[in-house]
Amino acid sequence: MPPLFHGKRGLYVTRHLLARQLREIKGSGLAPFTTLGEWNRERPTGRRIAVTFDDAYESLFTNGLPVLEKLGVPAITYVVASLIGGSNEWDHGTQARHEHLMDRSQLAEWLRAGQEIGSHGLTHRDLTTLPPDEARREIVESKQRLEESFGQPIRHFCYPYGAWNDAVRAMVEEAGYATATSTISGINSATTDAFTIRRILARHQRPYLAALTRR
Ligand SMILES: [Zn+2]
Repeated sequence: MPPLFHGKRGLYVTRHLLARQLREIKGSGLAPFTTLGEWNRERPTGRRIAVTFDDAYESLFTNGLPVLEKLGVPAITYVVASLIGGSNEWDHGTQARHEHLMDRSQLAEWLRAGQEIGSHGLTHRDLTTLPPDEARREIVESKQRLEESFGQPIRHFCYPYGAWNDAVRAMVEEAGYATATSTISGINSATTDAFTIRRILARHQRPYLAALTRR
């Protein structure tokens, strides 16, 4: 359950609401769900929907995965590579609640279930505030570590806090990623930059389809 009195309450989505939102999209005939990689490749030929979850919270594994599996919806979660099995340390000292992150075996099971992972950096720092060498390390080393740990290529990046600039964006492309997601709200066209992909936030109690179809 979402915490009742909490500044970030709107970011919590219950298992029931997630199922409702996904079923609503499926039932609308708006566009099929697809993996992020396929979504990116098929962007020029038609509308599709990719589902992303930042931070790889344990609650995504326990509450979200059963819903995704039941509805046959592929999704990607962005892992903070040095905090696997840890917690949202980057939020400590803020209003945010302490939350567990998926551990290695949960991530392995997530992958076995046909879901995907991407990189969310090493430590969830704002890359635009770091010296270039440190920002590059967050981008490059997180990719390497996840590839070594899980034995598969890591092709997708997500900017911590949605924070990027031209230099950071270029580092992500140079590191060999195929996409990077931002927190810019909106839908993407065939020509939207693959390294600043827009998203629509599935907020608690948000009229989801209305937001999705708005152009
Ligand atoms: Zn994050």
